[in-house]
Amino acid sequence: MKNVRAKKSLGQNFLVDEGVISRIASAAAIREGEVVVEIGPGRGALTPRLRSQARHLICIEKDDALAEQWERKFAADSGADLVHADALKVLPKDLPVEGPYRVVANLPYNVGGRITMHLLEDWTGQVRSATLMFQKEVAERICASPSTKPYGALSVLVQSFAECWVLFGVPPGAFRPIPKVQSRVIRLQPFEVPKWKEAGLDYEHFRKTVHAGFAARRKTVSNSLSVGLQRESSEILPALAAAEIDASVRPQALGVDAWVRLAGAIE
Ligand code: SAM
Repeated sequence: MKNVRAKKSLGQNFLVDEGVISRIASAAAIREGEVVVEIGPGRGALTPRLRSQARHLICIEKDDALAEQWERKFAADSGADLVHADALKVLPKDLPVEGPYRVVANLPYNVGGRITMHLLEDWTGQVRSATLMFQKEVAERICASPSTKPYGALSVLVQSFAECWVLFGVPPGAFRPIPKVQSRVIRLQPFEVPKWKEAGLDYEHFRKTVHAGFAARRKTVSNSLSVGLQRESSEILPALAAAEIDASVRPQALGVDAWVRLAGAIE
């Protein structure tokens, strides 16, 4: 791979620490015969290892110069493809090989959270697992437990689709250029059926309820919902009672199952 100059706009901080690279490749737990999707192969820190473990490797890269280099490299390999696109817009139907997929990515700091939601919301059932690296704060928000500071709408929504764990931390020195932030590698293991679906809810309604519920996180859940949904408290209180939720608790005290019950009651 030619050393293309790192672009800040594409969050290009390339991994250079061999120890971290092997840890991520083993954490991906790729089994024989599986199809792997790597988002943002960059200069290929992880790519050759993923290729050697996968039946087929599909890399999605937005950067024109890097995509062109990978296209040329993969031309001679029938087990690897490059999709030159924005991962935020790619759907399984755009990929050259059918899923389910194991997704692996060292995600750009600026779009990590959005790419994760896109994989969960729009790749319906096609993600077998995702091993992802993010800025520490985003990783902590995604995997947070109720009643902790980072717990919010992103935690509830991701955890309604998947089980999540923080696997390990990665210091800035593992990248070039060296970023200003700490990183974390996490693993997402999607449920067979997302929790909101199991409860028979419409996803848009669930998503809107959760966002509204955290609209004013310092207030009580009933006040926050009433602000977020622009409805009178008198309309919210019966739904909280039906979902057996104490109206005076703060939104961050409610676990994913409580949010599912609440969205069901509001519907
Ligand atoms: N995987 C390489 C590594 O670990 O060294 C590169 C990681 S770098 C943090 C992020 C990579 O994602 C870059 O190659 C960048 O060009 C690519 N990228 C950024 N935004 C993207 C997007 N929206 N869709 C696809 N690739 C993207």
